[in-house]
Amino acid sequence: MTTYEIILKKRSGKILTNREIDFLVNGYTTGAIPDYQFSAFLMAVYFQGMNFDETTALTFAMMRSGKIFDLSEIPGLKIDKHSTGGVGDKVSLILAPLVAACGITVPMVSGRGLGHTGGTLDKLESIPGFRTNLTEKEFKYQIKKIGVAMMGQTKELAPADKRIYALRDVTGTVDSVPLIAASIMSKKLAEGIDGLVLDVKTGAGAFMKDFVCAKKLAKVMIEIGKRMGKKVVALITGMEQPLGNMVGNSLEVIESIECLKGNGQPDLMQVLIGLAEEMLMMGSRGKRHEVRSKIENVIKSGAALERFRDIIKAQDGDVRVIDNYKILPQAKFHSRVKSPETGYIQKIDALQIGVLSVELGCGRKTIDDKIDYSAGFIFKKKIGDQVEKGESLVEVIGQDNNKVKFVSKKLLSVFKIGAVKVKPPQLIIDRIF
Ligand code: URA
Repeated sequence: MTTYEIILKKRSGKILTNREIDFLVNGYTTGAIPDYQFSAFLMAVYFQGMNFDETTALTFAMMRSGKIFDLSEIPGLKIDKHSTGGVGDKVSLILAPLVAACGITVPMVSGRGLGHTGGTLDKLESIPGFRTNLTEKEFKYQIKKIGVAMMGQTKELAPADKRIYALRDVTGTVDSVPLIAASIMSKKLAEGIDGLVLDVKTGAGAFMKDFVCAKKLAKVMIEIGKRMGKKVVALITGMEQPLGNMVGNSLEVIESIECLKGNGQPDLMQVLIGLAEEMLMMGSRGKRHEVRSKIENVIKSGAALERFRDIIKAQDGDVRVIDNYKILPQAKFHSRVKSPETGYIQKIDALQIGVLSVELGCGRKTIDDKIDYSAGFIFKKKIGDQVEKGESLVEVIGQDNNKVKFVSKKLLSVFKIGAVKVKPPQLIIDRIF
């Protein structure tokens, strides 16, 4: 068996055996298979797909590439959430402390920016000092102490996903059902959870553009989770326009803190509360209306915000960020994009916003790219809003003036403005279990 033969086999649409999949995953994780061969394999999967057994084998091979954490000594159900990726989707930053403040243990393993979408790890790392590369010992200690920890894939936990994820990010191989399912489920199954709530995004800014594909992805992940004896529920949520008002790493930290302070934007709050309800119901904290009031109470009382402070402190971040946003990386350049006409915002192309955010420096175009944590967009108008000619649609900020200017010019074509008022797009579309 050689890597070359397996690539040819997948390229011609044949079904791979578990041994072949294990061989590739082990080879790539240990460095025996080079990036160029694994990229070719990923592209073959992208075009030919994988059946359910192959997807499960890929997930398990990636899960077993590192340790499988055992959190059984920690009492109660351990529940996590994962999103398939969106634009302005900062929900994990708010949800983890919020749900922990409601009494559920949340071991969270997240990813970096992927393709045109942002990543929780990059957002958290924009907080000076914040560490996401926790060891198993640190992860467990923190979960015991404060009920929640937020880390990334490491050499210890899902190392295969750490490498494959970074490669997919820059090789156009992200939006594939088997690759997304294996990436998400491998790290989630390795972190020691009892239950998982999935936020499967659909729409222009999602990897799954239509509902049918999103539902298929949700079903595959639910089935893989069930095979491992885990409780899994998925919400299919809309990603037609950025979630909340800010896109960009430190900007999304600010918006998350504001949300925990009770100043969340309605669209962000709707998705956040929908997912929090699922996590609390899965953790037997009550019926929907009972858990809803718990969620509202921990925001009102400040308990959720305090739990975020605890996370930042435990992971060596600068906790002053909670009260002083100036300690986050600051952009040097600002530009405002003004409306060319009076009317209503009918569309904001979330995919283009994501692509332009990478262009601005919020994400990576190659594996070694350095991120501009200060860069991003502050939306002044969203779908359904009225706008006057000359009013600001969006503010663009960043460290590189050429990029700020270039992206600002491109942004006008991302907004569709017309005479007819339209409704904001639907957010929670379906629940699958
Ligand atoms: N999130 C992940 O962890 N992996 C993907 O492939 C997509 C979203």
